[in-house]
Amino acid sequence: MNKDRRDFIKKAGVIASSSAMLGAIGCDTGKNVNINKGDGKMKLTFQKYELKLKHVFTIAKNSRTTTPDMQVQIHYNGITGYGEAAMPPYYPENPDTATKFYQKLDLGQFNDPFQMETILDYVDNVEEGNHFAKASIDIALHDLVGKLMNQPWYKIWGYDKELAPETSFTIGIDKPDVVQEKTLEAAPYKVLKIKLGAGNDKDMIKNVRKIAPDKKLYVDVNGGWKDRQEALDMAHWLKDQNVIFIEQPMPKKQIDDIAWLTQYSPLPIVADESIHRIPDVLASKGVYSGINIKLMKCTGLREAKKMITLARAFDMKILMGCMTATSCSISAAAQLSPAIDWADLDGNLLISNDPYEGVKVVDGKLILPDAPGIGIHKL
Ligand code: MG
Repeated sequence: MNKDRRDFIKKAGVIASSSAMLGAIGCDTGKNVNINKGDGKMKLTFQKYELKLKHVFTIAKNSRTTTPDMQVQIHYNGITGYGEAAMPPYYPENPDTATKFYQKLDLGQFNDPFQMETILDYVDNVEEGNHFAKASIDIALHDLVGKLMNQPWYKIWGYDKELAPETSFTIGIDKPDVVQEKTLEAAPYKVLKIKLGAGNDKDMIKNVRKIAPDKKLYVDVNGGWKDRQEALDMAHWLKDQNVIFIEQPMPKKQIDDIAWLTQYSPLPIVADESIHRIPDVLASKGVYSGINIKLMKCTGLREAKKMITLARAFDMKILMGCMTATSCSISAAAQLSPAIDWADLDGNLLISNDPYEGVKVVDGKLILPDAPGIGIHKL
């Protein structure tokens, strides 16, 4: 983007921000929404939501029972596109930062939702960061435009939904009896993603194997290993346990160690914490053998699709992951899933208060709905 365009977009952001203070723009808190059908303008509404987790969820760095979340809607001529920002506490965004970001947006200036590149360029340039909030707008806009075309996005993009992969079901770090209970509960899933990195790695795998001796396993260390030789030894041990890949084995700063591990590891090494947006894919070339794309981190479907193209050009593997989230953002991500190698799109299965129905898991495989847009409807 050239400088003039950036300046224009920044100015547009300032104008939108001023308008927000006057209450003159098409966004509010979701209360007393008056959708003016047929006025040809887009309106944004949003509400805070709290995701309730079925189990206490533990990874290498923390535990929690809820996840803060924002639900957003873009209204246009009586049609509503739904979006979501799921905001786990270990990321810098939260519902308050998202609210401030939404209040700076003036979607009412656009009267053609099909101009997605222009609209999403504007959203991306209103303020730095705010990737999760930007993703929620991207998802809602895709849902809206897909509904206007009366087609799901996997069809618009030309994908074969039969190529959607199996999804893994995540087992967090926990006591042996809880790990075994969760593995039992995960019986319908053909692949399990096991969180490691808390010092009890082999016990975690052995406890899963007591219940599921033959299942494919993915492993996510969340940067929990520090020594590259120990990491390589574990990679060999995990290969013998029918593990398919290792995600973020060491902290993202240990680039040289990770590149060394990738060179010698018998299993693919997949970047997660190292990957946010397109430039991170470039930086991961030669360091990792695959990337984990998450809609919340990369600002949504538009950028995720571009990251897939770039990673394929580098002959890298592609995993799509998610936060604990509703079926809204999970079904959005699933629209891209026929184009990837591995899916870890179970975030909606980990919560007990999903307000939507969308993508399903049947025999462990993602089944994309034929509903238009991102394929969801409200329950
Ligand atoms: Mg991960």
